[in-house]
Amino acid sequence: MAYAKRTHHLAPEGAYQVLAKAGQLEAAGKEIIHFEIGQPDYETFSNVSLAGIKAISEGKTRYTDPIGIPLLREAIAEDAGRRRNIKISPEEVVVSPGGKPNLFFPTLALVEPGDEVIYPNPGFPTYEAMIGVAGGVAVPVPLLEKNNFSFDLDAFDKLINKRTRLVILNSPSNPTGGVIPRNDLDHIAAQVQKYDCWIMSDEIYARIAYDGRQVFSIASLSGIKERTIIVDGFSKSYSMTGWRLGFGIMPKDLAERVGLLLTHSLGSTAHFTQFAGVEAVVGPQDMVDGMVAEFQRRRDAIIAGLNAIPGVNCQKPQGAFYAFPNISGTGMKSSELANLILEKAGVALLPGSSFGLYGEGYLRLSYATSIDVIEKGLSRIRAVLSSL
Ligand code: PLP
Repeated sequence: MAYAKRTHHLAPEGAYQVLAKAGQLEAAGKEIIHFEIGQPDYETFSNVSLAGIKAISEGKTRYTDPIGIPLLREAIAEDAGRRRNIKISPEEVVVSPGGKPNLFFPTLALVEPGDEVIYPNPGFPTYEAMIGVAGGVAVPVPLLEKNNFSFDLDAFDKLINKRTRLVILNSPSNPTGGVIPRNDLDHIAAQVQKYDCWIMSDEIYARIAYDGRQVFSIASLSGIKERTIIVDGFSKSYSMTGWRLGFGIMPKDLAERVGLLLTHSLGSTAHFTQFAGVEAVVGPQDMVDGMVAEFQRRRDAIIAGLNAIPGVNCQKPQGAFYAFPNISGTGMKSSELANLILEKAGVALLPGSSFGLYGEGYLRLSYATSIDVIEKGLSRIRAVLSSL
């Protein structure tokens, strides 16, 4: 069967593949420790779930405006603007089923075949997927450990040019947990203005930052919001992965274009989910803060444990909930090592190579799981590596 060329480059996301393989091992009776999938282990906060249930019982089960109900768009505009210290109007907010459509559709709306798109590597696999579907040329910028996994600015300066249409940023980053420092954002912003391109700032982990850090949005810099799509959502901050709720913030004209793509593809986001989203935004925020404080405790435990394993070296991530240890000391390829750890130790984690070329030499472990599970997983990994 011949499939359209625009799909030839698509590959499954590593996290789902490893989850499926771990599921098979579990079905065969093996006990598996899960560090592979990127979702908080918390239940959705009860006030939010109850708002969703109430919405269903009140018949909020209809089609809605493709870019979201006004109540949610207003709440997001106010909240997202206050957190970033910028003015956002509800017309600039596009609600979607998860953050992913707000990565994909603005890319389809902006990128012509042959346009270059700069993106972080290692990075979230959807970036390469959507650039390819749009017919764009994917131009990776390495995230280097020696720069705390911020953008390699020397490489960026060499790669940006007049054919660059879009620059994708992700801070805090999946898979590295790195945060792009303010000075680097200033530099990127100046370059993007010079070459007149768009920015897609994936800020889905912006609330999950440690050691009191406030993550700065590039859209807050003067003259930048007009050329930026901020991508954010409810999956991570409010532990709502399965509700499918996210949003983009972008100039009104682009929001209308993206709205048309949503109209003709997904239709709209689930009606009741949007009411749960309103409660998440306007309701109490102490559960989010508590969850982030707990993630910080887990981060400290997993990083200390990983660094105590011979052949493993792990920087302290500044945000998100992923550890990205350097395993080059083991002399093994990341996919071989990840397989070995799954099969021998029953610990599911991801090879850095599933996040792109520059992820080789690393593993990704999601530590959005309990300290007990973390300790158990680490001791199993230690046992496998000591037996090498
Ligand atoms: N962006 C990044 C960097 C992510 O890691 C994810 C999810 O893993 C998303 C976007 C999309 O999340 P969702 O579609 O669940 O909102």
